[in-house]
Amino acid sequence: MTASFHPPQRTLLGPGPSDVPARVLGALARPTIGHLDPLFVDLMDDIKRLLQYAFQTENALTLPISAPGSAGMEACFVNLVAPGDTVIVCQNGVFGGRMRENVERCGATAVMVEDAWGDPVSVDKVGEAFAAHPEASVLAFVHAETSTGARSDAEALCALARQHGALAIVDAVTALAGIPLAVDAWGADAVYSGTQKCLSCVPGISPVTFSERAVERIQARERPAQSWFLDMQLVMGYWGGGSKRAYHHTAPVNALYALHESLVMLQEEGLEAAHARHKRNHEALVAGLEALGLSLVVAPEWRLPQLNAVHIPEGVDDAAVRAALLTDFDLEIGAGLGALAGKAWRIGLMGHSSRERNVYVLLTALAAVLG
Ligand code: PLP
Repeated sequence: MTASFHPPQRTLLGPGPSDVPARVLGALARPTIGHLDPLFVDLMDDIKRLLQYAFQTENALTLPISAPGSAGMEACFVNLVAPGDTVIVCQNGVFGGRMRENVERCGATAVMVEDAWGDPVSVDKVGEAFAAHPEASVLAFVHAETSTGARSDAEALCALARQHGALAIVDAVTALAGIPLAVDAWGADAVYSGTQKCLSCVPGISPVTFSERAVERIQARERPAQSWFLDMQLVMGYWGGGSKRAYHHTAPVNALYALHESLVMLQEEGLEAAHARHKRNHEALVAGLEALGLSLVVAPEWRLPQLNAVHIPEGVDDAAVRAALLTDFDLEIGAGLGALAGKAWRIGLMGHSSRERNVYVLLTALAAVLG
């Protein structure tokens, strides 16, 4: 007989998922009700309002896609990009590369703006790309690049897109609730996130929001999006609000209880307080890492408080350190990705993981493992 699975209690200080608070796990275990039950429909309305708060938007089309962040990414591209379009895609880490693949799979041309891993996206280079490609209909970039720990100037990039009549698609998977993100004030048109980072909910859901301009573009499409599941015209029928909700797919009912709980917790704390907490714990972590003789990949101005990429010192065995932290201290940190594989560790202080206690636990454990 196969036994039940009982995972250990880890401390999750990697690039996500982050620690899920007991309140959110408790919500997950509440009785499942039907996804068209009137009480569930009320919960959906609550979730929409809470997500509007998290994204700082009044966009009517704000909802959680029933699939992970990658599906949120794909939802933005398949709905807003059509064959023959030109899209300016910024790449300064792993996730910009995935945006390029999405654009190309939509039959569009990706004009790449490349920056070094660890640097922010260059606003000047994006301006040059628009000058060279006035036909570009979309600008796509990652606000918080999880593979390097670099923030980019989302406000300036969205303004540039608007100035050139293009829509801005913004990856806010790691950004949401960890650093300021003002969808309406900045004029971002399609923004997707994930539940497993600074919202500290279970993985597998992708909050998204689309501006009115984006909705107009979706409604004006000549041919339907190539993805049935992610076609926002269809999803809108279910999440659109009012009593007219039509069955599209079976929502992950219990996972949405969990998302609701995590958003209620965010509202209770307040966005600004959550940002301040991330910043405070990041500063304590950096001070401690520097005291251990370790340095960060990203320049101070562009560092993400929720994701700290740390240079692996010469001669130190990357995998052995991570394995020792996991087995001896039940503590997870992330490996480097792509260009930073084997060169950096990624220490996440995301959402509920961003606690003073975790900073001390990590620094103590790391000092012990590094000897
Ligand atoms: N974009 C960024 C910036 C991410 O960090 C991630 C996941 O780490 C994704 C997209 C993809 O999200 P998911 O793994 O939930 O599909």
